[in-house]
Amino acid sequence: MILQQLSEAIGVSGKEDAVRKIVLKAIEKHVTNIRIDAMGNVTAIKKGTSSDNLRVMIAAHTDEIGFMVTEIDGDGFIKFTNIGSVDERILPGLRVKVGDKQLPGVIMWPPIHKNRDQNAVKLDALRIDIGAKNKDAAKSKVKPGDRIAFDSRFMEVGDKMLRGKAFDDRVGCSLLIDILQGGPYPVDILAAFTVQEEIGLRGAGVAARILNPDMAFALEGTTAHDVPDPTANPDDEDEPNPTARLGDGPALTVIDGGMIADPRLLNFLRSTAESNNIPYQLKTRPGGRTDAAAIHTANAGIPSAAISVPCRYIHSPSAYLNRDDYDNTLKLLQTALNNLSHDVLKRA
Ligand SMILES: [Zn+2]
Repeated sequence: MILQQLSEAIGVSGKEDAVRKIVLKAIEKHVTNIRIDAMGNVTAIKKGTSSDNLRVMIAAHTDEIGFMVTEIDGDGFIKFTNIGSVDERILPGLRVKVGDKQLPGVIMWPPIHKNRDQNAVKLDALRIDIGAKNKDAAKSKVKPGDRIAFDSRFMEVGDKMLRGKAFDDRVGCSLLIDILQGGPYPVDILAAFTVQEEIGLRGAGVAARILNPDMAFALEGTTAHDVPDPTANPDDEDEPNPTARLGDGPALTVIDGGMIADPRLLNFLRSTAESNNIPYQLKTRPGGRTDAAAIHTANAGIPSAAISVPCRYIHSPSAYLNRDDYDNTLKLLQTALNNLSHDVLKRA
């Protein structure tokens, strides 16, 4: 599946070229009006078959979180900053790829006797070791601004699980490609493969202004905290809110940190799922944001919703998602696209 290629491609925010290339190749025979805008968003149109001419934007972001080289220190170790949010506790010892040449490196692991009392080493105290013999040797290979990505291989594991990096949001890109390669649908699909989502939803608003849709859906990989809680009281029977669970179907955002989903679209998605026996779950944690947050206030306002595949260990080299969730998300989207009309936006 194309998710493997997308997951293994490197596209840290602001430098999404490799992902864009895969996307363009995958969609070019299935769409018209392909455009790469000034930001680097790819937009394209898949014309619908109905005279209703409903313009439905579907957005997925091509960028991933990662790091950037800021400086090379005296011994040839690389200082770096994060691009997008990352939990620095997971970093020491991880393998990374540095720059366009994808030089192999390791994030240093501070010796235990220097780190006995600390829970986590702050990111600005960490360094990347590319095995350079000295500063000049490092400087000949790496320069400030180079992107750094997790070194990670895609694989199938366990029971219908897929493991890899950057499922946030290559899973959305993969779904959008599947949609564009399928169909035709009655509605016009205005596809947007956006950039720079992880550093503040910077591409999506521009894409929305270019496409000027009647409504929009953001496709995402979202956090699933359905793992044992190390802070839980073992006698406590109450289940913590897991945000989303793997295997329970697509997560439909009710509210997050940047948007309240349009109730007409949310109800439409729920009733579409229910009448077609597609499992789904609701996401009600008011944290995090998606491209829909930038889209819904673009132009004169665009009714928007977000649909996500739950992912464990998101923003790490080894995220997990469930293959059934992927298939059910695609099924929900395709069924929704076959049944959408202007009527859905009618006010009561
Ligand atoms: Zn995302």
